[in-house]
Amino acid sequence: MTFERVAIIGLGLLGGSIGLAVKAHLPGVRTTGYDADPQTRERAAERGLVGEVCPTAADAVRDAQLVILCVPVGAMGEAAAEFAGALPAGAVVSDVGSSKEGVAAALTAALPGVAVIPAHPVAGTERSGPDAGFASLFQQRWCIITPPEGADPDQIAALAVFWEGLGARVEAMSASHHDMVLAVTSHLPHLIAYTIVGTASDLEGVTQGEVIKYSAGGFRDFTRIAASDPTMWRDVFLTNKDAVLAMLQRFTEDLTVLQRAIRVGDGEQLFEHFARTRDIRRSIIEEGQDDNRPDFGRSDHGNS
Ligand code: NAP
Repeated sequence: MTFERVAIIGLGLLGGSIGLAVKAHLPGVRTTGYDADPQTRERAAERGLVGEVCPTAADAVRDAQLVILCVPVGAMGEAAAEFAGALPAGAVVSDVGSSKEGVAAALTAALPGVAVIPAHPVAGTERSGPDAGFASLFQQRWCIITPPEGADPDQIAALAVFWEGLGARVEAMSASHHDMVLAVTSHLPHLIAYTIVGTASDLEGVTQGEVIKYSAGGFRDFTRIAASDPTMWRDVFLTNKDAVLAMLQRFTEDLTVLQRAIRVGDGEQLFEHFARTRDIRRSIIEEGQDDNRPDFGRSDHGNS
């Protein structure tokens, strides 16, 4: 089983990138698309993000074998309900949401009796909207599939083949495990970035001008993360609350340990900690999950 007709709901960064990646790597696959915003639909048609931009979600899915929801996680249920009545028998519904347990529950509730197999490509940038997508977004990135118990193995395999066709590497795990892993690798770092950029801009005695002028000293990379879409990240924290709070607790404890090491002047402990974290950075680069160039190779992708 392979998917030859794919509908993409939500034509921003993720939806647009899937459409462009299909065009580039899977020429036999026909794509339709829909976005709630008429201006986004217009721009998506101009950029050729999908083969056909449809005026309603129902029109987009009418003939689809695979529907991929690429809307903010808080909008998944509502977006699915819009096309539920038009979905052809046997179609598989998936998504790209950054949290998985809440999205799976919302999609299952909106689409009773439909095969729902959630997924999360761990690939993105801080940009959003129909101009942000690019075909190589998923190259060498992991896509995590979180099939519910009892999901059809052939449909899971077909979804994996689809993502591999876009250049991704695929792994399957439970939705709850996904949410715990991503809480520490993605959600907590975003929360820290949002906090530190807010803290710096609120400081009395340090002007905004100084914050911007001297930003190269580490702050700049946080500002990139903290420029991410506010709707998307509000929804991620609201839907992955328990895992984020658990990781935040661990983080706060570890921060207190470093705080104490600084206060008592324990250089050995600080050095050991920093040496360990440097090794993790090296492993990420060796795994091909980031780039050692100063701008992380981002300018090569046209998304710097
Ligand atoms: P985006 O660029 O803002 O695109 C989302 C699009 O969905 C917007 O055009 C939005 O329109 C539209 N939309 C909202 N509600 C809709 C509805 N009910 N029906 C149809 N379209 C609707 O966001 P994105 O970065 O692609 O994120 C989409 C999903 O990917 C999110 O679930 C996010 O968690 C996940 N994700 C993001 C990243 C990342 O780095 N950005 C990485 C991996 C996964 P409006 O703007 O008018 O609301």
